[in-house]
Amino acid sequence: MDLGIADRRAIVCAASKGLGYAVAEHLAAAGVHLTINARNAEVLQDAADRLTICYGVEVKVVAADITTREGRQAVLEAEPAPDILINNAGGPPSGVWSDWDEADWLAAINGNMLTPIMMMKSVLPGMIGRKWGRVVNITSAAVKNPIPDLGLSNAARCGLTGFVAGTARQAASDGVIINNLLPGMHKTDRLKGRIGKDADRLGISVEEAERELAKSVPAGHIGRPGDFGATAAFLCSEHAGFMVAQNVLLDGGAFNSTM
Ligand code: NAP
Repeated sequence: MDLGIADRRAIVCAASKGLGYAVAEHLAAAGVHLTINARNAEVLQDAADRLTICYGVEVKVVAADITTREGRQAVLEAEPAPDILINNAGGPPSGVWSDWDEADWLAAINGNMLTPIMMMKSVLPGMIGRKWGRVVNITSAAVKNPIPDLGLSNAARCGLTGFVAGTARQAASDGVIINNLLPGMHKTDRLKGRIGKDADRLGISVEEAERELAKSVPAGHIGRPGDFGATAAFLCSEHAGFMVAQNVLLDGGAFNSTM
């Protein structure tokens, strides 16, 4: 399918690896010029080189922490007029409610709620003025299906979800479409770390540990980042113009509900 977004310009935050990179790759395949961001400059440059060689699009890199004001400013200076914004960052640490003090809460709210909100605040005026824009926030299946030991993530991402629910409806009549994409378990470095720990704990191979984990997923396998990237690219496409303020769950059916 032609996504109709060739030569558009995108910012993809936290995109040297994992889900962010997969989204960047699918946008590049659709002919979108990219500004990609992550903290480790070397890994980020490698990612940019791969994208340029494979897809022939322009790729700018900004090595910075997107959860800081300076990091966001650097990204926006590199690409001041994006047509597409993908919000992404690392997730907060796990634990239980009694572990977290005010500083932990402020860090989680900053990283997973305020950072994407501040990015939207910066780019929405331009998108509204040009009468076209797409924003996809990478959140988590935990927004619908809370993970008990990820209370910081559950809460901060629900705050972002509430903001999007209202704002997306204010921006849609100007051609600016904002949605959230909710990953369930996907096989990125982050999840591979967890599978490795499961294998050690249970005294089984990594392959067996992955098969065990996949038993909780009706699709029968852990999510593929490439499939996630393709869904995100569709949400950024010309065809997604009537899809407003949705929370699109990509979890292989793990969340058991009728609707
Ligand atoms: P990943 O494989 O660890 O990749 C994370 C990417 O984000 C890397 O490129 C990393 O590069 C970059 N990054 C992290 N913190 C950053 C920051 N503060 N500023 C700029 N770049 C940053 O992780 P992932 O699995 O793709 O997860 C992406 C998001 O989806 C996370 O919020 C995660 O909690 C959420 N999620 C993932 C899953 C899953 O199963 N994979 C499920 C639910 C939710 P640097 O380290 O160099 O900065």
